Amino acid sequence: MRDAVAIVLAAGSGERLGLETPKAFVALRGRPILARAVAAALACQGVGSVVVTAPSGAEDLAHAIVEPLGAHAVVTGGATRHASVRAALRLVPDEVDTILCHDAARALATSALFAAVLGALEGWDGVVPVVPVSDTVKRVREGAVVGTEPREDLALAQTPQAFKALALRDAHARAAEADVEFTDDAAALEWAGYRVRTVPGEPHAFKITTAGDLARAERVLSEARP
Ligand code: C5P
Repeated sequence: MRDAVAIVLAAGSGERLGLETPKAFVALRGRPILARAVAAALACQGVGSVVVTAPSGAEDLAHAIVEPLGAHAVVTGGATRHASVRAALRLVPDEVDTILCHDAARALATSALFAAVLGALEGWDGVVPVVPVSDTVKRVREGAVVGTEPREDLALAQTPQAFKALALRDAHARAAEADVEFTDDAAALEWAGYRVRTVPGEPHAFKITTAGDLARAERVLSEARP
């Protein structure tokens, strides 16, 4: 059933990419990153609609990109990723009980990953896709190594992440009140005491942050369809 709403976060400046254009509007093999992310969300059977966060001043551009795909809701993002999620939540009707949060910058995440997180939500408050860590991770303070994390306990979190709407709204409201920031939504739920589980992520759902990531994404696409 198509009853979940996907929030696609695209209001970042993309400074680390080193381009003039905000990251979500950068073309990846001729198609904007934002269009790819929204199309993947809407290709998932369980997703009924999409809310996009856009950088201030770029709302019309975002709208022009996503409207032909069937996504009609665009909201101005906030100063932080969390503020952007909160702005988008205000556009999600109260009766919606499942919400996905997705970084537009993970342009190559597939609709199958949306389906996987939705399919694993039963009995949990949140679902996050993860991939294993292959490097050894050190805890470092002022240049000195103060610990080595056991690698088998670690995983890298991706999006899309799926949530029970009430838990997501409550975690974000409490985090805002306590003035704490997290780098993903699952972390806000964990902090608020909710139960979050994992599903296997996708190697290609990496976040496009640097010019090197953009080149990697171009390579993935040209290998998939030369
Ligand atoms: O900054 P970071 O790489 O963690 O951003 C992850 C996603 O959140 C990106 O797709 C970005 O466009 C979005 N974002 C947002 N509002 C912000 C900051 C980031 O929607 N204020």
